[in-house]
Amino acid sequence: MPDVHSNLPPSASKMWISCPPSAALNAKAPDSDSSYALAGTLAHSIGEAKIRQALGEDISIPECTDAEMAEATDQYRDYVLEQIEAARASCRDPTVLVEQRVSCERWAEGCFGTADFLLISDQTLHICDLKYGQLEVSAQDNTQLMCYSLGAIDAFASLYEFTEVKMTIFQPRLNHCDTCTKTVEELLQWGDTVLKPAAVLALAGEGAFCAGEHCRFCKVKQTCRKRAEYNLALARYDFAMPPELTDDEIEAILAKADDLTSWISDIKDYAMQQALSGKHWSQWKLVEGRSVRKYTDEAAVADAVTAAGFDPYEHKVLGLTAMTKLLGKRKFEELLGGLIHKPPGKPTLVPISDRRAEWNTAKNDFMED
Ligand code: SF4
Repeated sequence: MPDVHSNLPPSASKMWISCPPSAALNAKAPDSDSSYALAGTLAHSIGEAKIRQALGEDISIPECTDAEMAEATDQYRDYVLEQIEAARASCRDPTVLVEQRVSCERWAEGCFGTADFLLISDQTLHICDLKYGQLEVSAQDNTQLMCYSLGAIDAFASLYEFTEVKMTIFQPRLNHCDTCTKTVEELLQWGDTVLKPAAVLALAGEGAFCAGEHCRFCKVKQTCRKRAEYNLALARYDFAMPPELTDDEIEAILAKADDLTSWISDIKDYAMQQALSGKHWSQWKLVEGRSVRKYTDEAAVADAVTAAGFDPYEHKVLGLTAMTKLLGKRKFEELLGGLIHKPPGKPTLVPISDRRAEWNTAKNDFMED
């Protein structure tokens, strides 16, 4: 759920901890209600209602015509119920909280949000965050979950005796479920030594601007000078002689390529939006782009072609994504599981830290032979 009135939202904590002055700039910038965010909000409401209903509450489930969302929220509910069942094996009466407001204002004023699911049993507090997006999110050292954990520790540690916190990201559309476990001690220490000092700087609009991966979620990423400097540093790369780049230099450029590409794309989008809003750039102008011919009335076209004795329609099986949306994942597997082939992907160059196994070039040579 969005952290609506939070000055230091846990969901943006990676950004304001890494770059404290970004908090003030983001607080001033307008929100954009993207269709992705709206879908995420709906998925959370449906997931919450399904869990509450499964736990015996008399509650209706929001209407959902999207089979993929229905399936994803079923999976989320089932996962949550499994966790409750597992907790009951060792604890007679675990505490279950759904969409629980948590606040870690003891460390960071204005830092509060809503934890999707909390389960407290004997030694363990389990926090689960549903992510409906398609960009994989890791639970490892996830600062949003760590903020929620601190909020939950603050609210419940005096009532229960848990000593560790399990933090889970559940991402059904990617079949991704990732858990990170930390002790209460470790989290409290992080709160005191990392979160608190960063929050003080962020609230005062102080501290050093610092660009990095977290800029992706920053509302001023298009016009931020620090991010520009960070990316332009590549252009100032001090290339050594001889005239050809060395392997080390190529690797240094590769390491910056993704950030550079996304920064350039953000700048282009920003300049375009400004121009469309009426801004006149001195060296750039809006022109009409290439266009393609279109039917003015599809029904009339179909009638005319049919009357002439031809079939105006092309009959195609839906693509995998549209078919999954139509059937839902479970039905899709049931009906079509045996009819799906996944060919090997094309080789992709990624950082050595990537979790995928290395491409076997020997096998590739053999296939080419
Ligand atoms: S774009 Fe990056 S460096 Fe600039 S304010 Fe935002 S988070 Fe900080």
